[in-house]
Amino acid sequence: MKTFACGDVVPGCGARFTSADEDGILSQVAGHAAADHGVTDITPELVQSVRSHIHGA
Ligand SMILES: [Zn+2]
Repeated sequence: MKTFACGDVVPGCGARFTSADEDGILSQVAGHAAADHGVTDITPELVQSVRSHIHGA
C-alpha cells in the first residue's frame, strides 16, 4: 500500500491518500489538486515531486 500526504508538497494541506500503487495515488492527487488547489496543469515536475514523497511498499 502506498501513502502520500499532500502537506509534504503543499505546506498546510492536510489531505492524505492511499492506494495500491503510485498511479492510483497520482490520479487521486490530480483530482485533489484541481478541486482544492486550483491546479489543473499537472506538470512532469509536479508528478516527480509527488512521486518523491510517496511512502510505503
Ligand atoms: Zn492538498
